[in-house]
Amino acid sequence: LAEKLQETFRRLKSKGRLTEADVDEAMKEVRRALLAADVNFQVVKSFVARVKERAVGQDVLSSLTPAQQVIKIVREELAGLMGGTQSKLNMAPKPPTVVMMVGLHGAGKTTTAAKLANLMRKQGRRPLLVACDVYRPAAIKQLQVLGEQLDIPVFSMGDRHTPVDIARAAVEHATRQGRDLVIIDTAGRLEINEEMMAELEELKAALRPHEILLVVDAMTGQVAVNIAETFNKRLGLDGVVLTKLDGDTRGGAALSIKAVTGCPIKFVGVGEKLDALEPFHPDRMADRILGMGDVLTLIEKAQASFDAEQVARLNKKIRSADFTLDDFLEQLQEVKKLGPIQQIISMLPGLGNMKKLKELGDIDDRELVYVEAIIRSMTPWERAHPHEINGSRRRRIARGSGTSVQKVNSVLKQFEQTRKMMRQLAEMGRGGKKGARLP
Ligand code: GDP
Ligand code: MG
Repeated sequence: LAEKLQETFRRLKSKGRLTEADVDEAMKEVRRALLAADVNFQVVKSFVARVKERAVGQDVLSSLTPAQQVIKIVREELAGLMGGTQSKLNMAPKPPTVVMMVGLHGAGKTTTAAKLANLMRKQGRRPLLVACDVYRPAAIKQLQVLGEQLDIPVFSMGDRHTPVDIARAAVEHATRQGRDLVIIDTAGRLEINEEMMAELEELKAALRPHEILLVVDAMTGQVAVNIAETFNKRLGLDGVVLTKLDGDTRGGAALSIKAVTGCPIKFVGVGEKLDALEPFHPDRMADRILGMGDVLTLIEKAQASFDAEQVARLNKKIRSADFTLDDFLEQLQEVKKLGPIQQIISMLPGLGNMKKLKELGDIDDRELVYVEAIIRSMTPWERAHPHEINGSRRRRIARGSGTSVQKVNSVLKQFEQTRKMMRQLAEMGRGGKKGARLP
């Protein structure tokens, strides 16, 4: 999915301005990519419509290329689709908080119950795990083993009691023991059936849990979305845990669940180990789906710190080849606002490994101070005529800036390299052949 989208956006890069046709073309690809990733059809349809509406006719920001602008909108809408911000567990005003894990066989309920206990303990909670899967003795044993590994208590009463009795006793036990979080592992089935739902409803009525978490397997794609919808209609879910996101999943379920059911994904399982559970961040998932997290960060930074007019002026200069040392200085200062230079360079797709950029990357942040001092020690005429700076001028500049002739030489060399590279980048940007333009 990420690859296809990147290809689409790469094509957009050559465009100078966003027209409806450009956006239509790009969104056709986005639509295809989302459907291929097993995202619900209705979700895709309304998603594409929303992005289009926002993208067409919007003022193109000077600091972003049209492609970046579309990416930015797609990213925001993707994150919005998944709930926008991170959703936390509902906590009881008066402890213990009771969490009920529900879901089908093999979804990862038991494992996730243990992982959640582990995660919440790190946040200062005192969890109690409760074995309510009375149909499979092995399930009780499984939870006990996990609890032992984590050194977290597991409450069980074997398989001769009803889940309601066990859960009630567990909550009482937790209250007595000062445990503020009760996580109940329930019995699943191979598929949704009346018996399981009735059981869970009964448990819900008896316990009044603060949180009903549905555990679904991300690898089942669209099926996971249907399961979530059915459980939500019957039980009313507070959140979803999407497991096995570490596998070769297409991620479509993550995109559709919130949009289809209205229930946020609260956690994701990313491995078999007991620390492989993470709070779900819609924006990060959007990045992952787009496969270009770093680029997006860069876009945001550029947007936040660049003076758009100044950049436009610089761009023009670079192209017209009368790029002077004054411009170089101005540009270095703009770049400085973005953060460490090495980091910026590594964020640029396809440019990070260009040899020329590696050389530019040798300028580290400490060196920026020298560069500035050296350029400031030049006369305006020298700044406009770097090729005319001879040996005696270099010595004077070195003295004036408190540096050395070698430093002056290296700054002039870097300037020359930058000028060449800028010209190449400008050409690449115009031709849209490969790589991105410098912001
Ligand atoms: P339950 O039947 O719903 O209780 O499912 P289990 O908790 O027993 O999990 C079923 C299988 O899925 C086990 O082998 C788990 O180790 C595995 N599993 C659960 N969550 C994840 C996950 O996030 N990633 C991976 N790779 N495996 C998981
Ligand atoms: Mg289980």
